[in-house]
Amino acid sequence: MEIDVLLTSDRTLMSNHHGKEFLGFGTSAPPNWLPEWLYRYLFFPKMKKVNGLPWQAPYGLRKFEAKLIDEGINALIVDPDDLARYKAKIIGIYVMDAFGWGPSSTTFAGIMKTGEPYLAKYFKNLLESKGYKKLKASGAKTIVGGPAAWQFKYKPEFLDEHGIDCVFDGEGEMAVELIKKALKGEEIPKFYEEHRAPSLEEISEIKRASINGLIEIGRGCPRGCKFCSVTLRPLRWYSYEKIEKELKVNAREGLKSTILHAEDVLFYGQKGVIPNEEKVIKLNKLAKKYVEYVSWSHASFAAVMAKPKLIEKVAEIICDGKQKWWGAEMGIETGSPELIKKTMPAKTKPFKPEEYPEIVKEAAGILTDNNLFPACTLIAGLPEETEDDIIKTIELIEDLKDFKSVIVPLFFVPLGRLKDKDWFKKEKMNELHKELLIQCMRHNLRWVKKIADSYFQEKRRDVIIKPFYLLFMKLIEWQAKKKGIL
Ligand code: SF4
Repeated sequence: MEIDVLLTSDRTLMSNHHGKEFLGFGTSAPPNWLPEWLYRYLFFPKMKKVNGLPWQAPYGLRKFEAKLIDEGINALIVDPDDLARYKAKIIGIYVMDAFGWGPSSTTFAGIMKTGEPYLAKYFKNLLESKGYKKLKASGAKTIVGGPAAWQFKYKPEFLDEHGIDCVFDGEGEMAVELIKKALKGEEIPKFYEEHRAPSLEEISEIKRASINGLIEIGRGCPRGCKFCSVTLRPLRWYSYEKIEKELKVNAREGLKSTILHAEDVLFYGQKGVIPNEEKVIKLNKLAKKYVEYVSWSHASFAAVMAKPKLIEKVAEIICDGKQKWWGAEMGIETGSPELIKKTMPAKTKPFKPEEYPEIVKEAAGILTDNNLFPACTLIAGLPEETEDDIIKTIELIEDLKDFKSVIVPLFFVPLGRLKDKDWFKKEKMNELHKELLIQCMRHNLRWVKKIADSYFQEKRRDVIIKPFYLLFMKLIEWQAKKKGIL
């Protein structure tokens, strides 16, 4: 079949991770003690197909597919293993962490020390597949885009080695002109960076199902942390109508869950840092109308405390006979007010940086009481970090021992306004960093089994596969003990 723009991503991204988004983190681990076939099944099983096409696809890719179709371009998302069945003028590949340089990959690599992560391996596999080579041999141009576009600048030789004609860095909607040029056979640059952001009207609604029903409710973040690239983009919130259209698409395609995606769901509809209770409640009621399970992509501790009753009100909407809990990713980042002042001054607003450790502890209590079990992140190795900063973070983690959560330390990666700074690598870890990793590991070992009881309860298959994840955790614990980390 001949398509103008064939869109795909590697196998680790074209997976719904058994309907459990958090398991997607597993794709950033390197090959380990579990055989690859088992690990693949556990963390990135192959996506089911409907009428020969992936049932669900990464949201960013769906958004781009929709935009191209709305612009009158013949575009289609296909499974990476099916490329050989098509002819195309352009192959568009979506990349999340092409070389395993993202924060979770570098952290896993630091702990496990066993080679390149699966997501990098499978990206390379895609570019070495027969289907990809066949398309290239027939003259298709390759354009790569997505959150990992920045990585290719550090490895320009990779483009020629794998027939990549252009890397697009920016919001997908702004790549339409580039695609039109390439379709006309005009010259396109190796790197195309676009800083302009599309208006709400220029953002199309997805036309088919997204992975795990994830849908955006807005883009951008008002907090402006120096180490974050999101902060360089303007803040835009989608209307209820726009959100509802995508909820309907996923429900029509058979999805029973959604993940509301924003850098902070609690800020929905707001310009500042105080949540609007009415808007957040209406948003969650809307989502619950279409699906049985609602989760959030991100929220912040300071926003929880800015409206301390809001989480309880939302829990009354989300949690019911079927759904017992919900998840979100929440950045703690540090326990040090000094480091906050230097690198993320708006992180704690409307509170003062000095109040932050207390804010996190109080919010943790509210979250646990209302069955929001978050995956929290910390950043180790920020350029201006001092030993005292690390000690403060360790103390905060110790104080959070009753917080039903997973806490993941991530190594600093130079992005946003710190993109010219040095990477934090395992060689730079001092004794305090190691102590921080130990604290997090202890916290996670304490809570993972209990969270897994809630996490793997929805389907009969969950009960069967749950022991394998617990075994994986045991293997990490065993390895940590062997290396003297625990
Ligand atoms: S709060 Fe999160 S999304 Fe917002 S700027 Fe900071 S790190 Fe980025």
